[in-house]
Amino acid sequence: MILLDNVTKYYPGDKSPALNEVNLYIQPKEFVFLVGKSGAGKSTLIKMLTREERQTSGRIMVGGIDYDYLKRRHIPHLRRRLGVVFQDFKLLPNRTVYENVAFALEIVGVSNHEIRRTVPKVLELVGLADKGHKFPSELSGGQRQRISIARAILKDAPILVLDEATSALDPEMVGEVLDVMKSLAQKGMTMVVVTHEMGFAREVGNRVLFMDEGKILEEGTPEEIFSNPKHHRLQDFLKKVL
Ligand code: ADP
Repeated sequence: MILLDNVTKYYPGDKSPALNEVNLYIQPKEFVFLVGKSGAGKSTLIKMLTREERQTSGRIMVGGIDYDYLKRRHIPHLRRRLGVVFQDFKLLPNRTVYENVAFALEIVGVSNHEIRRTVPKVLELVGLADKGHKFPSELSGGQRQRISIARAILKDAPILVLDEATSALDPEMVGEVLDVMKSLAQKGMTMVVVTHEMGFAREVGNRVLFMDEGKILEEGTPEEIFSNPKHHRLQDFLKKVL
């Protein structure tokens, strides 16, 4: 569960807020897309969830954790609940795909037995079952990002967040990564994705949020947002991107 209650964010020195009294409730297992033009506040909203930035006011709860009461010692717990797919894959170039994923488990003290059991399953989930023996340099950007997703799932995180804008992927790779996320969504993960691929939001999202000037200006099913947009700003936005 993700809850934003009247969340406002001012970056230092900015006169207008990047997020302006945003209210949002995301249920478990929802697949939510954030869309809107550049500067609308999408990345800032994601950064509120990952705790990369702090809100100026309002309340944020993720997976039962109230961020206002988040102590330093709770952060590992939060990170386990939240899988963040980072742009920076941080892959070890001299280790195979299998070893890279296994390493993420080794460093948190998982037993070898458990590692041998888990890694193949996770590689299967992200469609890299036959790439375990390859080195990162032998993979495409999309495949490398899927390792990043594999690591996020490894933690059994029930919530996955991805900001496509910061993930430096080519459009065709975005499709590849979103395909993996689609299959994860079908397995019941909660996902929040910032995307510029309207086709995807339309095809696989449960819910689409249109952001504009720090507000969620309109939200609805893909059908409502893309086929029956109400706000003129959403209509203008769609004219440009569709
Ligand atoms: P989007 O992801 O929709 O493109 P952002 O959340 O990145 O939008 O940006 C929202 C607003 O906040 C913009 O006006 C942007 O200039 C501002 N902003 C974003 N990050 C920072 C930052 N680190 N410092 C100051 N202003 C920022």
